[in-house]
Order: sequence, then structure tokens, then C-alpha cells
Amino acid sequence: MMTLTCQVLVVGAGLAGFTAAVRAAENGADVLLIDKSDGEFGGGNVLMASGSLRAGGKSPRTTPTELYDFVMSEGIGYPLLVKAWSETCGRAVDWLMNAGVGLEETAPGRIWLNQESEISLAPVYKKDVGTRAVAALKARLQRLGGRFINDTEGLSLISERGSVQGVIARQSSQPLEVRGRTTILCTGGFSANKGMLRKYVGPRADQCKLRGSPQDTGDGLRMALVMGAKAVNLQYFYGHLISRKALTDDRFWPYPRLDSFVNEGMLIDGEGHRFVDEGRGDVAVANELARSPDPTGATLIFDHDSWEASKNSPSSTSLMIPAPNPWLLDNSGELFWSNTIEGLSAAIGVNADNLAATLAQYNHAVESKDWSSSTVLRSGNPKLLRSPFYGLRVVPGITFTMGGVLINGRGEALDSAENPIRGLYAAGDAIGGLMGGYRGGYTGGLMQAVVSGILAGENAADYIKMV
Ligand SMILES: Cc1cc2nc3c(=O)[nH]c(=O)nc-3n(C[C@H](O)[C@H](O)[C@H](O)COP(=O)(O)OP(=O)(O)OC[C@H]3O[C@@H](n4cnc5c(N)ncnc54)[C@H](O)[C@@H]3O)c2cc1C
Repeated sequence: MMTLTCQVLVVGAGLAGFTAAVRAAENGADVLLIDKSDGEFGGGNVLMASGSLRAGGKSPRTTPTELYDFVMSEGIGYPLLVKAWSETCGRAVDWLMNAGVGLEETAPGRIWLNQESEISLAPVYKKDVGTRAVAALKARLQRLGGRFINDTEGLSLISERGSVQGVIARQSSQPLEVRGRTTILCTGGFSANKGMLRKYVGPRADQCKLRGSPQDTGDGLRMALVMGAKAVNLQYFYGHLISRKALTDDRFWPYPRLDSFVNEGMLIDGEGHRFVDEGRGDVAVANELARSPDPTGATLIFDHDSWEASKNSPSSTSLMIPAPNPWLLDNSGELFWSNTIEGLSAAIGVNADNLAATLAQYNHAVESKDWSSSTVLRSGNPKLLRSPFYGLRVVPGITFTMGGVLINGRGEALDSAENPIRGLYAAGDAIGGLMGGYRGGYTGGLMQAVVSGILAGENAADYIKMV
């Protein structure tokens, strides 16, 4: 078998992988970055990203204490990782700029990867934005003497003398040994692995739609688990409710965003009952539906005011994405409406008595502000639903999974006793410990990738100086 050697091996060339590789090379390491796709910039989610650099919905330059408190308030963050992430977000933005990645600040603290881009319907949302960022990092890596090889898939980790020493890989269907004194797993999450979705998210979560890269099949998580790694927060993903039937491409379509209908309406199951507090927000609601017995059987119920308002919804205008109204109708969205709740029940095929009772209970609770007699509470600012009524069949769309290999503040992969696995690091969507939770717990995929890539790259390069 052919063998390649390096000091720091990075597996997976997304934003986390390119960041880790560049940072390790800047710290003097001989770096090799491999990717299983045949793309010249890898094949990950970063190539589809719209480029919003938010840290828990805040500016990445927010004080570390505020970022830390925000993330920890979900109750499932791992303190050492969250602390390191909070303290590194600001530095990460400066580092990106110094590394040659174009950024723009559209309002104070509202930082984006350079937005010059063509908008497209599918398969990507904004062409070029993420691609341009990783192209800049790739150029920097090569200037620093680092190597990038595509079409090379990491299959399993090599473990010798109590330390991870690289991967057994496959290059253009030939076996290959890639030896590194440290290995950084940056293989993305497992959103494109139906078996893992069933195992970790919900027994029927494989019925959700994929809103991200087909390359993110959980390879790093699988390889690390074999080494005894601890994996956390695997049940959570970042994603949105999307229309169950719009466009014909079954694989990927990112919009329109339906957040306003979640905020202003109610979500019912196939029997006509509410089953989730819609006020938790679109990401949390999508997670709850994915875990339910029937992820494709839910319908968003809203009214004419919400439908009219969605013509100019703020997310559509600020993100320059099509508004639900009229996009859904123009693209075969399964939108039903009726002047009566009985008529709507018949159109969407749910039990009319159930839906009428659900609506009556909901409107009564909204009016009286008393949810004590309601089976499912409602937070936020729900409004009364009045005729004409609308029904839109929805399904969760999974952008990326939030859980993965637990790392500490140095990017080291931890074992079940939370001790570092020697020679093994992880970054980006392959990690767990930062995101997820009852309210969605989204801290930003790009900021997770850059920050954890910096931590892993710097510390992996330091590690080889010590051993
Ligand atoms: C449509 C869309 C819009 C988004 N918009 C935003 C946004 O505006 N802001 C934000 O913060 N986040 C956004 N995200 C999320 C963000 O893009 C991701 O969280 C981030 O890019 C993850 O980076 P990563 O490097 O960990 O993974 P990825 O970019 O997915 O890269 C993983 C890489 O690993 C490779 N790989 C996988 N397995 C192997 C293996 N066995 N061997 C070798 N290589 C392997 C893959 O080919 C891929 O190149 C968006 C995502 C999508 C899909």
C-alpha cells in the first residue's frame, strides 16, 4: 500500500479543515489536507453557505462573557469548549481577514463572508460565497507549503502506541496509508447519513430532507467512536421546516423560509393535534418534528393575515431570498385554504372535529393568555387565527447536525472519561458540545468551523513540537 506522511493530517476540506490546515501550517507544521470529494475546494456545506458570521445570533466580537452565558443557557454546552469558543470568536474574524478571506460588515456587528454572489434556487443558495472563502484559505495553505489532495477518503484511524497516527484511506479506489503525527477530523456532520439520522435523531428522521452537502456522512464521528471517543448532543440539528412539496428536486432546496408561519401559526400532526410549542422557534420545531413518529405528516396552519404579511417578510428582504408568498404557489407548494376550518380539514385530510377542537382551544388560550387547559403550551407572542385559514404541509430540512465528537478547549478529541485521545483532534460540524438544546441552540456553523479549526490547528502543531 502506498504511504504518504506529514506532521499534521487534516481529514475533510471544508471551512474547518482549511482553517485547521492553514493555522497548523502558520505554526510551522508540515500539513496534508485530504478530502473525499473530487472538488478543488472539497465538497462540504461551506460551499453552500450564505456567509452569515454570527455567534449565537450575535456579533462574533461580542464580549466572551456574554457569548459564554448565551451558549451555556441552553444547558447542554461543555464549559471548556464553550469558554474557548467564546474567547476566540473575535480573534477568528481578524484571523480570517488576515488570511485573505473577504469579509463585509453590513451593520455594526453584522459580519458576512463577502456577499458578491449570484443567487440561485438550487442546489446552492448563494453561489461563490463559501467557495471564495475556502479558495483564499487554500491559496494561503499552498503558499505556506501545505498540501491538499482531493478524491482521498479517510476510512479508519491508525492507532499505534496509544496515539492516533493518521488514517487508512482510499484514493481513486486504491488503498492508501496517510500517516500524520496528529490527525484532525473535519469531515462535517452526518446529515447525509440516513442510518445515523435514524439512530441519533429519531427513528424516522431519515424521512427529513437534506439541505446540505451529500458528502457529510458522519465519517469522522464513526472513525472517532472506534477510538473510544465520546460523542455528545447527537440528537440536535440545524435546519428549518420546508414545504413538503415544492420544486421537484428531492435533494436540496433551501427556501423559502417559513419562520413567520411557525411564529404566527400552529403546527398540527396527521390527527389534527398540536404537539410542540411553536414559540420555541423554527429550528427547535423542526427538531421536534424530526423526532416525531411521522416527520412528513405535519401541517402548518396559519391565516390570511400571515399569508399576506409573508409577501414582504423581513427575513426574505434582508437575506434576499424569495418570500413564501407567492413563491410557494409558483413552485407547486401544497398550499390549501378555506373559509372554514372544516373545509381546510377536508382539503388537508385531517379529522375535522380534532382540528376544530385544536383551533378552538388554541384561540381560547391566546385570547385569555391562559394555557393551563391546553395540552401543549405556547410561548412567544401567538396571535388569534381567523378565517380564511391556510394549511401548508411541511417536512424538516436538515442543514447540518449539531452533535459529534466532544472536544475540549484545545480541540482535542475526548474519550468517554473526557480525557484527550492522544494525537486526535476534531473541528467543525464533526464536533459536539457547543450547539443544540431546547430552543434550537444554534451558535453559527461558520463560527464553529473557524474557531474550532483555529483551536485544533494551533494545538495540533504545538503537540508535534512536544512529542
Ligand atoms: C445552505 C446552507 C447555508 C448555510 N449558511 C450558513 C450561514 O450563513 N452561516 C453559518 O454560520 N453557517 C451556515 N451554514 C452552515 C455552515 O456552512 C457549516 O456549518 C460549515 O460550513 C461546516 O464546516 P465544516 O468544515 O465542518 O464541514 P463541511 O463544509 O461540510 O466540510 C466537510 C468536508 O469533509 C469532507 N469529508 C467528509 N468525509 C470525509 C472523509 N471520510 N474523508 C475525507 N473527506 C471527507 C467533505 O467532502 C467536505 O468537503 C450553511 C449551510 C448550508 C448547507
